[in-house]
Amino acid sequence: MWTSGNALAVVGVHPWENLRSFAGTPIETLMTKQSSRSALVVSTGLGLFAVLVFALNLTALRGPLFLLWLAGPLSTIVPVVVALRISCTPSFPLPTRRFWRHLATVAALAGLGSALNAWDVLGTGAAAQNMSAPTVAVFSAAVLTLLWGLFRLPLGVSGRGELLRIGLDAGTVLLAAAVFMWQFQTRPMLEATGYQAASVIAASFTLVLELVTVFAIVKVALAGQAYLAPRALHLFAAGMFGGVLSGFLQQFIVDQPHLSLTQISIPLVMICATAAAEAQRRSGVRAPSRQSAGRSFSVFPYLAVAAVDALLLAVAWPHEDQRIVVVAAVALTGLVVWRQITAFRENTELVARLDHSSTHDPLTGLPNRALFNDRLAAALPGRVSVALIDLDDFKTVNDTLGHGAGDVLLTTVAERLSGCVRAGDTVARLGGDEFVVLLAGLDAAEAELSAQRMIAALAEPVIADGHDLLVRASIGLATSGAGDDAGELLRRADIAMYAAKHGGGSDVQSYTSGMAGAVADTAALGAQLRQAITGGQLRLAYQPIVALDGSRLDGVEALVRWQHPDRGVIPPAEFIPVAERTGLIVPLGDWVLRTACAQLAAWTAELGPLAPAMMNVNVSARQLSDAGFVDRVVQILAATGVPAHRLTLEITESTAVALGEAAGRLAELRGIGVRISLDDFGTGQSTLTLLHELAVDQLKLDRSFVQDDAGRPGLNMPAAVFALAGAAGLEIVAEGVETPEQAERLERLGYRWAQGFHFARPMPADDITGLVTRLSAPAA
Ligand code: C2E
Ligand code: CA
Ligand code: CA
Repeated sequence: MWTSGNALAVVGVHPWENLRSFAGTPIETLMTKQSSRSALVVSTGLGLFAVLVFALNLTALRGPLFLLWLAGPLSTIVPVVVALRISCTPSFPLPTRRFWRHLATVAALAGLGSALNAWDVLGTGAAAQNMSAPTVAVFSAAVLTLLWGLFRLPLGVSGRGELLRIGLDAGTVLLAAAVFMWQFQTRPMLEATGYQAASVIAASFTLVLELVTVFAIVKVALAGQAYLAPRALHLFAAGMFGGVLSGFLQQFIVDQPHLSLTQISIPLVMICATAAAEAQRRSGVRAPSRQSAGRSFSVFPYLAVAAVDALLLAVAWPHEDQRIVVVAAVALTGLVVWRQITAFRENTELVARLDHSSTHDPLTGLPNRALFNDRLAAALPGRVSVALIDLDDFKTVNDTLGHGAGDVLLTTVAERLSGCVRAGDTVARLGGDEFVVLLAGLDAAEAELSAQRMIAALAEPVIADGHDLLVRASIGLATSGAGDDAGELLRRADIAMYAAKHGGGSDVQSYTSGMAGAVADTAALGAQLRQAITGGQLRLAYQPIVALDGSRLDGVEALVRWQHPDRGVIPPAEFIPVAERTGLIVPLGDWVLRTACAQLAAWTAELGPLAPAMMNVNVSARQLSDAGFVDRVVQILAATGVPAHRLTLEITESTAVALGEAAGRLAELRGIGVRISLDDFGTGQSTLTLLHELAVDQLKLDRSFVQDDAGRPGLNMPAAVFALAGAAGLEIVAEGVETPEQAERLERLGYRWAQGFHFARPMPADDITGLVTRLSAPAA
């Protein structure tokens, strides 16, 4: 990650980048590319020119003297301009801009110093290496400004350990640099001048300045600068080291009065400066990434050790008597360094493994939420689609078949999703049964097609623990528009996913702006529902189940209502799905069961034999998948004193299909005498198999068949279901009877029990009391 500035800029999350895409225009980008090339060409040209002229004049002055001084001042112009441009780009963070402003000043001062130096030589005929006081002052100001700029850069180091490591590494590099400077620069200089006081001071000053410079660079590099593009940092460090090391050339030119190191070092360092500035400009800004930065730079201390070892060998070689000791010492450091590097490599591997496990989901091996977010942020502001996939009824599978089966299901889903996307797309698991796919570069229609393929891929049954599971998934799709950020895109996909779920699941929904309100309502409803359950806002209405001739009330069905403080009565169709999704159905269902049983007990106490014989209560799949359900039913029956055979639990066909092992719970309940009814019968699938597998007591013919008045050709469902119920020995109740004609027709078919507005609407408990009293009056 550290090695390439561009890669990092893409991987990192950089809010400024977004800003830039607003502020910057494509035209600016084009200009940047072009001017960056020409800036580098100019810098490199001047550098090469300087080297050429220097080389030609290395042994003696050949040609006009001013040519030697031409490149230095000129070469600083380009980096000044480029660095200034960075410092004026508002999209860069403040420390970055400040740093490049300092650098522009440094380059300008270097240019000025080099011009003054040239003036000294050309104007007054002084020797090139003897700088005048003003020249020295200007150069010193340049170096000090540079140091100041480097020190001002925020370190971004966390913890004492890291600080210590950086300190030790920096110390190593610094010591090595000092040794080299002493050997090749300070000592020759002092020997040449015979250790005069003035030159000792000058040499010490230079040495200290150089060491401080090295320290500043090392500090920045080792700390892994958060505010500089890595490539820029590398180029910059290379330039600085080059500048410092050029001091060693000093010894070769001490006897050439027309030569000065600044003649080539300035143009060469300015190439690096220009390249670094351009790298910074191109890369934008990245998020701090300390670890990797620190790790990759840690080779420099080793290089420093190797360099000093080499120096030691070179210096000590002529002394034959000490050779063996010196070689052994060098070999020893080599071994230690080797060992260190081995440990370092192992460390790196460990970190990489940890890195992987911190960015990947252990079960499926897919990227996790964090990595997904990174990739999504990196893909923006390009065109991306996010497909959010949520499995329908996964919890039921997990609860009824066990976690082993759940895990198999999840890994299979992961494989199938990965199998139906392109190589560059990211499939990630956000947690639980939620997956997400990042589709890059597709338009909305193509993305929808892709999502449809996912649904199709998931539709194949999954075999888990010997069970054939049907995976249904709801997919919400959102495609980015101008200026959308990652969070917004995910939020939209989430909304669309809920819309898909709401529509019955196993479907793809693309986000539309209208969805937001509906889903926000649902979310708000969920939050309020929690309060409603504990806060006594729920009511039960009871709808009589009567003999078709209207003579007798056999039982009642408890139907929940929500007396919302602001919205009035909310029908169950609106909040039961919310309750099921949020899991609130479990406490809600408990409340219904307890209240209904208590009511039945109260009627029995009040009305004696006239009380409804049966209480029908609706139960959702989610309730049945709860391991404590049977115990709670038993406990409620005991607490209210209602005998088990007076309670009928209604489950819908689709619930029953999804039951899996929770079917065992139904059997258990039936074992203690509770009756089971199949609700909305005829609307689901696999009806016959189900009847065969599930032991039930009652069927409730769905009202669509009752209200679908005769006349229509085809299968006569009420008749068929009646026959089926008769064959299976089940009681049958017709639902939704609204007219006398419907009642009559059902009666002719042989039906005995019915429910519907024709007889009675769902009503409060007190009205039931009145009703049974009225019904019993003629008989009395
Ligand atoms: P359901 O179990 O099929 O309940 C019967 C629904 O049909 C009730 O609607 C009832 O008011 C309505 N209905 C009764 N007679 C007629 C008729 O003649 N014509 C028409 N058009 N409709 C009739 P409601 O009360 O709105 O309940 C809707 C659904 O909500 C219920 O369907 C049931 O699935 C669910 N539900 C209600 N209460 C509960 C509960 O306590 N727990 C659970 N899990 N679900 C419940
Ligand atoms: Ca029902
Ligand atoms: Ca029903």
